[in-house]
Amino acid sequence: MFERGNVAEIDEFARVLGQVLDGQSGSALRPVRLPTAASEVADRLITAIAMGEYLPGERLPPERDLAQILDVGRSSVREAIGRLQAVGIVDIRRGRQGGTFVRESWTGASAEAVRRTLLPRWAEMEQLFDLRCLVEGMIARTAAERRGAGDIERMRAALDRFASARTAYDEHAADIAFHQAVVEAARNPQIAALSRDLLTRVSLGFPIEPYDGARAVLRRALGEHTALCEAIVAGEAERAGAIARGHFTITNEAVREVLSRAGSDLSGTDGTPGGESGVRVD
Ligand SMILES: [Zn+2]
Repeated sequence: MFERGNVAEIDEFARVLGQVLDGQSGSALRPVRLPTAASEVADRLITAIAMGEYLPGERLPPERDLAQILDVGRSSVREAIGRLQAVGIVDIRRGRQGGTFVRESWTGASAEAVRRTLLPRWAEMEQLFDLRCLVEGMIARTAAERRGAGDIERMRAALDRFASARTAYDEHAADIAFHQAVVEAARNPQIAALSRDLLTRVSLGFPIEPYDGARAVLRRALGEHTALCEAIVAGEAERAGAIARGHFTITNEAVREVLSRAGSDLSGTDGTPGGESGVRVD
């Protein structure tokens, strides 16, 4: 039966057969264990934290909110949080000011959890990144056409806050406030809901922008925010749209960065959806 097979296949067969005869079956012969809801939730939280959605020192949403966001039972969330504590990613503090706080963005448990969470979704995520750039471009164009004095004030206030932020948490908050102001300037709650829905989908279900705190990324973001704000203020719809489309690739790049830190090389993919969309895991 092996006349056409190669040596490696024969070796593999011999190895598995040897294990079976020794009474220690190989992994292929063990009963299948489906991942539990708790381990899925743990993976997703570890990945969201690795993506900078929740920063060190920040408190995670309460158990009941997480259960609702992730559509699982509270006991699964509790078990998942226990796992995060066990691997040093969060601290659980009791008392009035208590809660679950991020301790480390990345620990020895992160790489595997990130790969398990992102790789099966990667083709869909690239489509979502692309869609989000298109939608945010449309939002910025519309904002440039419809902005009023109050919108301009809000955008500029958020820009100032971003530039003078002293902590990663403040920068993250100012970034969110700036984009919020742009969306509001488009003056259509349905557009705001669409923007939020896409954000939630690229952020693994959490309505929070992934955050890459690298200085170079922050400088880029500040420059693009300033340019976007100026284009919207000047009523230059096309320019505002183009800047926003480019700016939102930051998210795609940040998530790719996290995946490459987890040891998955995506350099062979060109970032456009619908093509080969082959994810290489070397
Ligand atoms: Zn931004």
